[in-house]
Amino acid sequence: MSYYLETNIPGVFAAGDVRHGSVKRCASAVGEGAMAVTFVHHYVTNG
Ligand SMILES: Cc1cc2nc3c(=O)[nH]c(=O)nc-3n(C[C@H](O)[C@H](O)[C@H](O)COP(=O)(O)OP(=O)(O)OC[C@H]3O[C@@H](n4cnc5c(N)ncnc54)[C@H](O)[C@@H]3O)c2cc1C
Repeated sequence: MSYYLETNIPGVFAAGDVRHGSVKRCASAVGEGAMAVTFVHHYVTNG
């Protein structure tokens, strides 16, 4: 199972401008970063 914001490398997440299709806004980058942290925790806990 893959998580939202996860790249094609399992356990590696992309947030902000580097993400394909990002909207290029500060608030979006920060929000996606916060989301990615949550998903990293899920990944580490559940695989
Ligand atoms: C001129 C300009 C004006 C803008 N005005 C606005 C605005 O008014 N409002 C708004 O919301 N957004 C604005 N933006 C967009 C906003 O700046 C970006 O969307 C936001 O900064 C993206 O954040 P980020 O963390 O994804 O990327 P970045 O802020 O680009 O951070 C990426 C970081 O990674 C570092 N890095 C790169 N490669 C490596 C590497 N190999 N190893 C280690 N570190 C690396 C870079 O040095 C950089 O510090 C503007 C952008 C520009 C260029």
